[in-house]
Amino acid sequence: MTSTELLYEGKAKKVFATSDPDVVIVEFKDDATAFNGEKKGQIAQKGVANAAITTRLMNFLASHGIPTHFHKQLDERRLAVARLQMVPLEVVVRNRVAGSLEKRMGVAEGTVLEAPVVELYFKNDALGDPLLNEDHIRAMGIASEELVAQLKKQALEVNRLLQGFFDDRQLILVDFKLEFGMQGGQLLLGDEISPDTCRLWDKKTLRKMDKDRFRRDLGGVEDAYREVLERVLS
Ligand code: UDP
Repeated sequence: MTSTELLYEGKAKKVFATSDPDVVIVEFKDDATAFNGEKKGQIAQKGVANAAITTRLMNFLASHGIPTHFHKQLDERRLAVARLQMVPLEVVVRNRVAGSLEKRMGVAEGTVLEAPVVELYFKNDALGDPLLNEDHIRAMGIASEELVAQLKKQALEVNRLLQGFFDDRQLILVDFKLEFGMQGGQLLLGDEISPDTCRLWDKKTLRKMDKDRFRRDLGGVEDAYREVLERVLS
């Protein structure tokens, strides 16, 4: 499949149109950003790792009944996916306390939550992607009550499936972010699932194996992505 026009360039990915109006090509870059773009850098071979990890996880989820945008991997860095009308919400699921929840709740990092927590953030760079509740979402006409219920249900099912998948590979799924979109009236899981969008800790040592190594200058960033890739493919 030949890619043509660049439709969009984000922080970590480029999206190209194809001859099929319902299909786009996503290209994964090595660029990394954190803190709403304030910190910038590169992680060698991150794009290659994230394209392969996303492919494996989308295939795994699809085989367990989750409708996704994934069509096929084209080469090391490029995936063909369904073109979606994106829902402007980031859906975060948390199993343990980390990141912004640690700050908001004043609870120690790593604390196990009694039940998974789903959070919805408004995708809006200018506002810094604020956390919204369901009343805000309805009042602003961002999504219907039915759609919000569907997003939460799908996200919790993805969490259940991924927790098992990672547990088999000696990794703890601490939290992650999903994005969804519509094509032909169907809600599909979109975007990527990778160490850029998930917090993953080694089960035995609790070593961080994700973008927090970059965010917090912990070193060993490339090795962590490579290790997650190896475990995901095993
Ligand atoms: N996350 C993401 N993109 C964002 C914000 C968060 O992929 O723009 C992921 C993040 O990697 C983590 C989870 O969502 O796995 C929860 O992130 P949190 O709210 O703790 O914010 P962070 O500390 O990552 O800024």
